Amino acid sequence: MTIDTRLKNRWVYAFGDGVADGDASMKNLLGGKGANLAEMSSLGLPVPPGFTITTEACNHYYKKAKSYPPELRAEVAAALAIVEKRVGKGFGSRDNPLLVSVRSGARASMPGMMDTVLNLGLNDVTVEGLARLADDRRFAFDSYRRFIQMYSNVVLGLDHHMFEEILDDRKDALNVSVDTALTAEDWQGVVRDYKAAVERALGHGFPQDPQDQLWGAIGAVFESWMNERAKFYRRMHDIPEAWGTAVNIQSMVFGNMGETSATGVAFTRNPATGEARLYGEFLVNAQGEDVVAGIRTPQSLTRAAREEMGDTAPSMEEAMPEAFHEFVHAVGRLEHHYRDMQDIEFTVERGRLYLLQTRSGKRTARAALKIAVDLAGEGVISKEEAIMRVEPTSLDQLLHPTIDPSATRDVIAAGLPASPGAATGRIVFTAEAAVRESAGKEPVILIRHETSPEDIRGMDAARGIVTARGGMTSHAAVVARGMGRPCVSGAGEIEIDVAAGEMRTRGRVWKAGDIITIDGSKGEVIAGAVPMVEPELSGDFAQLMTWADQHRRLHVRANAETAVDARTALQFGAEGIGLVRTEHMFFDADRIAAVREMILADDEAGRKAALAKLLPMQRGDFVDLMTIMEGFPIAFRLLDPPLHEFLPHTEEDLAAVARATGLDAAKLLRRAGELAETNPMLGHRGCRLGISYPEIYEMQVRAIIEAACDVAASGKVGPRPEIMHPLVAKAEEMAFLRALTDRVAKEVMVERGVTIDYSVGAMIELPRAAICAGELAAHAAFFSFGTNDLTQTTFGISRDDSGRFLNAYIDNGIFEKDPFISIDVEGVGALVRMGAERARARRPDVKLGICGEHGGDPASIAFCEEVGLDYVSCSAYRVPIARLAAAQAALARKS
Ligand code: ADP
Ligand code: MG
Ligand code: MG
Repeated sequence: MTIDTRLKNRWVYAFGDGVADGDASMKNLLGGKGANLAEMSSLGLPVPPGFTITTEACNHYYKKAKSYPPELRAEVAAALAIVEKRVGKGFGSRDNPLLVSVRSGARASMPGMMDTVLNLGLNDVTVEGLARLADDRRFAFDSYRRFIQMYSNVVLGLDHHMFEEILDDRKDALNVSVDTALTAEDWQGVVRDYKAAVERALGHGFPQDPQDQLWGAIGAVFESWMNERAKFYRRMHDIPEAWGTAVNIQSMVFGNMGETSATGVAFTRNPATGEARLYGEFLVNAQGEDVVAGIRTPQSLTRAAREEMGDTAPSMEEAMPEAFHEFVHAVGRLEHHYRDMQDIEFTVERGRLYLLQTRSGKRTARAALKIAVDLAGEGVISKEEAIMRVEPTSLDQLLHPTIDPSATRDVIAAGLPASPGAATGRIVFTAEAAVRESAGKEPVILIRHETSPEDIRGMDAARGIVTARGGMTSHAAVVARGMGRPCVSGAGEIEIDVAAGEMRTRGRVWKAGDIITIDGSKGEVIAGAVPMVEPELSGDFAQLMTWADQHRRLHVRANAETAVDARTALQFGAEGIGLVRTEHMFFDADRIAAVREMILADDEAGRKAALAKLLPMQRGDFVDLMTIMEGFPIAFRLLDPPLHEFLPHTEEDLAAVARATGLDAAKLLRRAGELAETNPMLGHRGCRLGISYPEIYEMQVRAIIEAACDVAASGKVGPRPEIMHPLVAKAEEMAFLRALTDRVAKEVMVERGVTIDYSVGAMIELPRAAICAGELAAHAAFFSFGTNDLTQTTFGISRDDSGRFLNAYIDNGIFEKDPFISIDVEGVGALVRMGAERARARRPDVKLGICGEHGGDPASIAFCEEVGLDYVSCSAYRVPIARLAAAQAALARKS
């Protein structure tokens, strides 16, 4: 390699022939694809030479009114000259034409979200040169028609259906059904028709100048960064718009040069199960996206996989053994080099292997766990790295039910187990219907011939996805695994008639709206709803959780009111309950009557009589929770919502309640009117209720302490109730509530002759409470930041109404993320930080936690770790997510 073919300019980085200007560490500048092409090239792997235009050029494009940096043209020309030299061909040359692909590639992989053009450089002249060079006219015109279609779609904005119709018409006329049956002359005819169609649609011919083609494609890749699919994908995966995409321009190699050529994709381990075996698919005599597009059924890579699938078409191992063995060796090197499972794209041109892409492969949560635990076991990575390798929120996929093994299955179609887990829902046949129906909270299963990036919203909205065509690496399969949706792909028995809104399979007809169940772990579509079972939490999951627990500092509790939730929480490793909403139990049919009686009472005596009926019920519930949580702390939050929430809202409902309970209808109506508030969120609620009606909180404190006495008497490990007062703002409120709590607790302990290790504290959910946490701490032993309400009261935004404008805020970049999902670090977070510091200054041993949605959000958990809170509390199903996130946050701080 001579030095004059090295190039490192400001906007362009070259790779190929065993050297590269960039490397794998330069993803920010070169995008993932470009950085890894450079790295593979330096490793001496067979990569077609090319160059990468940086993401900064894309950012320049958007910052400077869609113009290119002035130096870019010269740099691209120089880089192209190097590629010409490396491959010994000329771009636009009539006898020896160089063709290139123009490929997008952002920092984070966004499969199929942006656009790629292959075979660029072909025109009416170079196609003849290519035909002579390859000694294959059919191949040359097949490439040209592919190029016209892709370029017209991606760059010229023409609908691809137009081209598909032309091809279908030609196939009909020739009476053939597969592309492979078309001859050179047939393809030449298709090219003629394509060009005529372009001319009709645009009023000018298909661009013939390769330089025009090249710059058109570069512009289109930049433009694709802002297309709707890419925007939606970014939002879903928290990818900032500011990253931009790189453009990779790479000399073409051809998988469509006949029977000794092929293209394929492979994973170094199974991306669905994590099993340590090469896994993938390939197609003979095909190019580019043919494998993922699901147009033909791909063949297995290994003989073992083919035998397991019962396929007759030969595997790559059998059909092209030399290229296969070279490939196995190369992918082994790649996995070892990157120390992670790789997702690899390759092409074989007349027996010669080329690698076109490698990246860390997307995988299911189950596979992520197994691969992380296995790699640590193989000594490739450390246990700490294994902890960092698993995305905490992905555990969600493992924590949900699968089909009960003993259930009877009325299987209506079989396909491939493309993404594990099970789901039941109503059939929909379009992405739009999936979005529409699921908006009404109706679970739906999306059934398509195959999916494409346009379907992404519908796939996100659906509980599960079924495709009639496509393999394990089809678009549907890859995207579903990424989203954690169960998916069955390639269920070829299903015949879909979208227009009629029905499908046929095994002689039965199913209509849109019918209920089915899918099993993505087995690849089955099943009639009706099928019983599910709870997930298995042993094996790799337990192993990783054990490692995580050794590194985490934050304790993890759950929010739970019912015995079922408390048991689930415990099973998932919760170390206590961080929030019992004590009013939750008031809504049960047998209790609401007593609650309403209390609300309607004319005086304190009447209220007390009603409360006396509630006392044993609350005590019973609390006994259950304390018994289940054996010795773990439980934070009981006293009555919080305004009383009118317990009354019926419409006049008809009021009348019905009056009839059923014998309460006076007129009085009920009057009381509901009296209690109505203009601003319930800022109204008569929280500790304001306990201060204006102390007898309510007295009853609740009594119920908690009596329950603790009962449990202690039964010989269980001492319960540790934490009595938590909501919506406190002033030290004087806290002093009042503290006195009330201690007085009642003492009364009960004296009556029972038992001492209970209880504590009194408050929820911090008002800015004033955070600011004055020092003063509050004089009367409180613990605080729990109720960041749902603290977010509402800090922003002055009601969570219930924010749906109307939150999207506009996110679309316009005002909110990067929904602040109710991930904590607003600068504002709400600053209050939490201040509250924690001031409370600790006053009372160094004050116990601090957070409850609410943020307690289960990894980014918010990292913030809690940084502030040094003692625990986070989240919904039971998120406990493992919080445990892992807390370990990651602790490890990240150490490094
Ligand atoms: P995506 O990001 O959508 O996967 P790629 O840029 O990877 O898009 O291109 C898609 C496919 O096009 C690749 O997997 C490969 O099969 C084919 N391809 C891209 N560049 C070349 C090339 N230089 N030679 C042959 N095939 C190519
Ligand atoms: Mg693609
Ligand atoms: Mg790719």
